[in-house]
Amino acid sequence: MADYNFGAGPSVVPQEVLEVIKREIMNFNHTGLSILEISHRSLDFQALISEAKNDLRALMGIPADYEILFLQGGASTQFMMLPLNLAQNKTAYYAISGIFGKKAYEEAIKASQLENIDVVSIGSTAHHHYDRLLKIDLEKIDFQKAAYLHLTTNNTVEGTAIFPENLPESHEVPLIADMSSNIMAVDYDISKFGMVYAGAQKNLGIAGLTVVIIKKDLLSKDQVLPSMLDYQVLAEHQSMYNTPPTFAIYVAGLIFKWVKAQGGVKELERQNRKKAKLLYDYIDQSDFYDNPVYNINERSICNVIFRCPHQNLDVEFANEAEKRGLLSLKGHRSVGGLRASLYNAFPVEGVRKLIEFMKDFEEENK
Ligand code: PMP
Repeated sequence: MADYNFGAGPSVVPQEVLEVIKREIMNFNHTGLSILEISHRSLDFQALISEAKNDLRALMGIPADYEILFLQGGASTQFMMLPLNLAQNKTAYYAISGIFGKKAYEEAIKASQLENIDVVSIGSTAHHHYDRLLKIDLEKIDFQKAAYLHLTTNNTVEGTAIFPENLPESHEVPLIADMSSNIMAVDYDISKFGMVYAGAQKNLGIAGLTVVIIKKDLLSKDQVLPSMLDYQVLAEHQSMYNTPPTFAIYVAGLIFKWVKAQGGVKELERQNRKKAKLLYDYIDQSDFYDNPVYNINERSICNVIFRCPHQNLDVEFANEAEKRGLLSLKGHRSVGGLRASLYNAFPVEGVRKLIEFMKDFEEENK
């Protein structure tokens, strides 16, 4: 029986992509070398990285006036690079609807102690345990001083998401999104954002690569930052100021080809909606399981959170599920409960298997 990986990240990689990696690992592109060994300055790698960027641009409809950066350090490094690059002598605003949004804000506060940056939270739903999104009030923003408004499009831990139709319409201030857990899984219009960023280990492949998509007019030539933290320097060097994460970029390139073969981002979003609906519908009709998200239209389609009637049953559920090949269903360590991450590469059959198991578990434990 096949195992299904519900992990939140690192997470499932399409089987077809794993097969290509296996086939190519000993000899990349007839070079006689493994992709693990080739120089990032070689023509083969140069071709690979530019193809990956072009494919990403085409798949996400990234306009020509946006730069694509392939960086390291995870989304967490962006929490501090963002204010250092964009908010000097300005105010950075944060809408906080989850623990990662809070981390982004807290890291910006630290950055503000190094430079002349003001950091302001326009509100948080922490008092509701992040069971809902913050209602963003643009009146709280001083547009004269604002560098940007930061939000998280998908709250990986809490299972909520801001879908494209619910994004704030703010033309006066650039929107910046941490899209780590729903980039390429939901079809966002990139031109609505000043910058988006994401760690690759959910929908774009494996850990080690961080993608930053930034409007070119936000890159600054005036300020002095250490080179590895400076978007302008990294852009000038086409993401190769230093040695980039070559293998993770190679895998992302394969993922982009896979997404294209599936029919593109819109089609994957359609499939993701279908997978999530199956599971939410099952949870909703059950009086054993419960999804804690307060507003139904804010439910994430990438991370479905649910709970059994008692905490000790959640632990038992996850352990029993593992025995049936349903892996990594434990909720984030900070909140407990259960979480099924249904990213692009997660197959619908896995959702059906999970529902079968949920029925059995409910039967045995109610
Ligand atoms: N933001 C979100 C929404 C995330 O889900 C995560 C990781 N789970 C992070 C940021 C942190 O990403 P990284 O581990 O790549 O630093």
